[in-house]
Amino acid sequence: MLSPMDVAGRLARLRAYFDAAGCDALLLTNLTNIRYLTGFTGSAALAFVLPDELLFVTDGRYQLQSADQLGAAGLEARFAIGGLTVQQEAIAAAGKGIARIGLEAGSVTWARQRAMASDWFPEAELVPTEGLVETLRRVKDAGEISRISEAARIADAALAEVAPLLLDGTTEADFALALDFAMRRLGAADVSFESIVAGGPNGAKPHARPSSRVIGPGELVVLDFGALVDGYHSDMTRTLSVGEPATPDLVRMWDVVAESQRAGVAAVRAGVACSDIDAACREVIAAAGWADAFIHGTGHGVGLDIHEAPAVGATSTDTLEAGHVVTVEPGVYLPEHGGVRIEDTVVVTETGCELLTHAPKELVLQ
Ligand code: ZN
Ligand code: ZN
Repeated sequence: MLSPMDVAGRLARLRAYFDAAGCDALLLTNLTNIRYLTGFTGSAALAFVLPDELLFVTDGRYQLQSADQLGAAGLEARFAIGGLTVQQEAIAAAGKGIARIGLEAGSVTWARQRAMASDWFPEAELVPTEGLVETLRRVKDAGEISRISEAARIADAALAEVAPLLLDGTTEADFALALDFAMRRLGAADVSFESIVAGGPNGAKPHARPSSRVIGPGELVVLDFGALVDGYHSDMTRTLSVGEPATPDLVRMWDVVAESQRAGVAAVRAGVACSDIDAACREVIAAAGWADAFIHGTGHGVGLDIHEAPAVGATSTDTLEAGHVVTVEPGVYLPEHGGVRIEDTVVVTETGCELLTHAPKELVLQ
């Protein structure tokens, strides 16, 4: 059902960045990046991308798994399996004679960099690189999109199944548990992140954690959640009113955010600056007088990480490309009323975008 991914083809595209990054080889330490390039899903590994081979290093727990997963991905690699000494020796030996060795600046600790400079690669120049694999990861292939899409489908189905519980006076925590359980039962490997279920005043905190508070009639509840499928995340927010909304303010907040979100989605297209998507959303909310109540960025990329490049915000310098998967999630947060956020995950195309999240957006649940 899930389309295949071309994992093995990614290494050549990464090597093509080496010249511009000023390195001749790259030692990968970020496990998500290692997964992207090799298919390996374990919790400990290093991948040394050399000019014409890949050295994959892990410990005995992952000997069989790493051979299986790299084999399944169609990758040819040399393996070094063992404890830290074995790993260091294998990498140091492979690095001998290489002038410039790139490290992932965002994932190497200061202590490790010092050890690498003095003990692992004493003769090489160590080059801090930023976002090389992350740049590749922005554009998703068909296999990746099918995984995110399946995760989104599971989240849609889970919400449809458990939403009626909100009418029975459930707590935020109980509803979150029901939602999470439904996603797992429908095939998710895990939840995408800790589900946000924020009723009434808690909705004014964009990242509230589910509490023991009962969600009452006439309140808005912000539901922000997703599923995980084969390492890929989905992300969706819906804001519902439990029965008729208690005050007209709640309806107005919801209407403004819904219009803002539609404006953002309508602006998504390959070639558009991410900051323009943010502006499209923000304009609608500002016109309603709530510019200061939209207290976060408009969206983010989604993939192997729940938050990844590109950023969709006012200060983003990124431009959308076909195959990017991003969220559009404006919100309004007013401590005296609560919060509204509406979020879809979309695939950018040359002419616009395709929604991956399909749960209905009606305000009133009854
Ligand atoms: Zn979300
Ligand atoms: Zn999001």
